Amino acid sequence: CGIVGYVGGRSALDVVVDGLARLEYRGYDSAGVAVLADGKLTTAKRAGKLVNLRGALAEEPPPAGTLGMGHTRWATHGPPNDRNAHPHLDCTGSVAVIHNGIIENFAELRAELEEGGHGLGSDTDTEAVAHLLEDELKAGGDLADAMRRVCGRLEGAFTLVATHTGSPGLVVGARRNSPLVVGVGDGENFLASDVAAFIEHTRDAIELGQDQVVELRAEGVTVTDFDGRPAEVKEYHVDWDVSA
Ligand code: GLU
Repeated sequence: CGIVGYVGGRSALDVVVDGLARLEYRGYDSAGVAVLADGKLTTAKRAGKLVNLRGALAEEPPPAGTLGMGHTRWATHGPPNDRNAHPHLDCTGSVAVIHNGIIENFAELRAELEEGGHGLGSDTDTEAVAHLLEDELKAGGDLADAMRRVCGRLEGAFTLVATHTGSPGLVVGARRNSPLVVGVGDGENFLASDVAAFIEHTRDAIELGQDQVVELRAEGVTVTDFDGRPAEVKEYHVDWDVSA
């Protein structure tokens, strides 16, 4: 439902949780975050409102990191509980994924993954993507290469944001039939399902096109299609007022 990603110089947790709060008006049933710090991913997820997630984060604060992502979920596959909340991790805990939309061929993908020895811990369609990325990363390339190959196998509507401990400083986003906007900052960059999430930080934005993948680093942004061909990006300035 709501997606926020960040890489830059500030506390990713603060940026991401604030961003989720700005997307709250859309409605959701659970929320979660992942932060990358010292080469390790830490996640926190809670069913219910953002206040529940904030409570969990206050009780057990994740290590401070400058790369992270957050999600508010509107459950389509599996009940709204802590376990099904995003982000979802692969078997090794090195890939984190958040997702808006529905992966229509997920049953097939899940069966294939389980046959290949992956243990899936949630009921979501989303988790399959984390495990597919794990396999593609083993096959070679970085997270963006893996994402492009995985997207080629997905059917349905999706906005995906992922990070990987082996591709430091990189957040990858992808979309088909579901929106994703890049917020272009100075030494920091943002990803969100809606500009409202980052408008207090930057009003320079790039709307990702259909079937595109974005590589987000603190220093800049690269956009390609699912085959890796560079895509033309149109930056625009958000000069209207966004209020929840
Ligand atoms: N289909 C995913 C799920 O049920 C994502 C739902 C959403 O868009 O929030 O977890």
